[in-house]
Amino acid sequence: MQDQPRLSGRTRVFNTLLRFVSDIRGKIIVPYLILTFAVAVIGLYVVTRLASSSANERFNTYLVESGRAVLNGFASQEIDHLNAARTFALTDGVIEAMQAGDKETLSTLVLPAATTRGIDVLILVDAEGKTEFSALKRDGQLVLVDYDFRTADVWLIDQLLEQRSPDASPVRAIGLHPVDGLYYYFTAAPIELEGKFAGVVMVGTALDTLLRNLNATSMAGLTVYLNDGQAIASTFTQNMLPEAQKALLAELSIPKDAYEDVLNSEPKVRIETMQISGLDYRLSRRPLVVGNDRLAVIDVVLPSDLLLDSNPLSRGMYVLVFTAAMGGVILVGYLVAQRITRPLFTLIKTSQAVAEGDLKQRTGIKRTDEIGTLATAFDQMTERLDERTLALQSSLQVQRETASRMRSILFSIGDGVLLEDAQGDIVPLNQAASFMLEDMAARFRLGPMRELPMLEQERSLDAWVNPWLLESRRFQIANRIYMAHSAAVGSDDGANLGTVIVLRDVTAEMEAEQLKDAFVAHVSHELRTPLTAIKGYTALLGATAGTALTPTQHNFLDRISRQTDNLVAMINSLLDFSEVEAGGRIGLRLQSLEFPTLIKEIYEEWRPDMEEKPLTFTVEVADNLPRINADVARLRWALINLVRNALQYTDAGGKVTLRLFSTQNDVVFQVVDTGVGIAEEAQKRLFTRFYRVMQSHDDNVRGLGLGLYVAKIIVEAHGGSIGVSSEVGVGSTFTVTLPAARDQEARQALLDRKRRG
Ligand code: ADP
Repeated sequence: MQDQPRLSGRTRVFNTLLRFVSDIRGKIIVPYLILTFAVAVIGLYVVTRLASSSANERFNTYLVESGRAVLNGFASQEIDHLNAARTFALTDGVIEAMQAGDKETLSTLVLPAATTRGIDVLILVDAEGKTEFSALKRDGQLVLVDYDFRTADVWLIDQLLEQRSPDASPVRAIGLHPVDGLYYYFTAAPIELEGKFAGVVMVGTALDTLLRNLNATSMAGLTVYLNDGQAIASTFTQNMLPEAQKALLAELSIPKDAYEDVLNSEPKVRIETMQISGLDYRLSRRPLVVGNDRLAVIDVVLPSDLLLDSNPLSRGMYVLVFTAAMGGVILVGYLVAQRITRPLFTLIKTSQAVAEGDLKQRTGIKRTDEIGTLATAFDQMTERLDERTLALQSSLQVQRETASRMRSILFSIGDGVLLEDAQGDIVPLNQAASFMLEDMAARFRLGPMRELPMLEQERSLDAWVNPWLLESRRFQIANRIYMAHSAAVGSDDGANLGTVIVLRDVTAEMEAEQLKDAFVAHVSHELRTPLTAIKGYTALLGATAGTALTPTQHNFLDRISRQTDNLVAMINSLLDFSEVEAGGRIGLRLQSLEFPTLIKEIYEEWRPDMEEKPLTFTVEVADNLPRINADVARLRWALINLVRNALQYTDAGGKVTLRLFSTQNDVVFQVVDTGVGIAEEAQKRLFTRFYRVMQSHDDNVRGLGLGLYVAKIIVEAHGGSIGVSSEVGVGSTFTVTLPAARDQEARQALLDRKRRG
């Protein structure tokens, strides 16, 4: 932490801002804010523009209206003038006094009326143009002034005098009064007496007074231009010294063309701006029209502040309203964004927790919109994940228990269990296997290793006990012998996992076996010698006794001889057996054999014993049987064993049948009896050595349990096979199948190859 450079405050703020902008809240809110701000600014701009332009318009309209009011003021002044003129003309005695030149009467008749009417100038001229009456207001008092208009060139009066018409229209003008040099608004009208032109009456109002009155009613400043643009009167000059008045009027004056342009153009209003004494004004400029006469150009002037004054107020209002509205919009936007982002954050937090393994976390968001759907789906997903995980955990537990049970079973087995896995590595699966492998490794240096052939008995025993075992092998390392049973193991889906091998040290068993075999061989040899002697002497006795012995005694001798033969045969089988057990194969002396002859001999030989029991003994031999190659003595011995068993295990009154027939390539010999039968389980082990069916039905029946074993070895040595089918209590059929002579050599070769491994 200390190594890290400390972030400056500004950088931290910047980072926070960056994070905010880059996260989803920022992605929604920031553009929203920018948009809102932009809209507000544009709106504010447009609205103030509209407002100011409308204020402008209103202002202009006001100017125009004021102008019109001013014109109306002139018009009403004109009406006043005309009324006054008519009053004077119609006053009794006025015209007469004019014509008589009686100025005194005239002034007594006219002056009071003129005073009450507020007239500034009153002039009466007779038809000849002689000024009969001239009054002028001075210091608020109408006084007579002596002035001859005939000498002055007053065009208003001249015009009417020239016309000399009582019906001439009144005329008006703005002009200077020759006496006081001030500007007046004059109106002149003809005077009539009995339908004849009698003179002219002219009424005038001081322009300054008129403008002041109009200024009072219209609130607007007024300036009147005459004589090619010269400002002759203005309300701006009020309360000024005469010098200053003159200077200001000079300043206000406009160029001649501008003046004429306004005066002669169609009576229209122009809005202009100007500066008076450093202040901004806006004005409407128009021709001053009264009746049909264009008298002058008049400005109606208002200060521009009037517009500006009102604007800051309204603009401030607008800004306030818009700021408030924008604040409102931003607040609403923020709340809306929060409504979206808050559940999203919950979702993110929950999903992170779930990702870290906390499957109990739920968002708990219950909404009907898309986010709600998403959250619900997420919760369901987590729920299912949780359930699955629990199920998996419990099944894992079960599997662990099973595996540990299997392991303890494996460890308790005395045999070594190994696994040769798919890669060919040998893995000991229990302690016995490890010990055995160590033991084998130690012995490997002590002596040669060789594989031993499997014994027939072991082979069939294994096949019966463990039909799934693929292979059993026996091998010797130094002086110890091991048995290995192996079987391929596969997973449920058929993949090869390797081979399981069960190892057993069989040295002790093998030694016992060998000892027994040696003993049997030895005893057999030793027994054969005295038996040969017995057989020899019995034959000699029979041959030499002649009539010294009764036929019954001769019969006894026959029996002794035959039983001795059986005994020899039994001993021979023992010898054969030990020969086989020693690992070699029995040596056959093959010769071509007429099989039916052999069978018939056996039949004849066994008929007396069968009939004695008694049993029904028959023989069925098919015709045209092929010859076979056989060791006659050994084959005869094997077949006799079957016949003897049939005799022994069939109760008196039963039936024994010998049958000989051929199939395509083989000659088949069967011994069929109706004896005790053999249980199915016993059938499997029938041809193994020393096996006898336990529940012997007759204690007198003796045997070694070797007969069928050796018979099988003999038959197989001939390239044939032996088998049984039997049912308990019904009888048994033993079948010997031998290859016909032509087929036999081939099978013999095959058999040799098989034995060599
Ligand atoms: P043994 O010398 O005991 O007869 P075998 O190998 O010839 O020895 O016979 C083995 C056993 O098979 C006998 O003990 C007997 O129980 C049974 N067995 C043999 N042949 C028959 C048969 N034909 N009927 C019933 N059981 C038989």
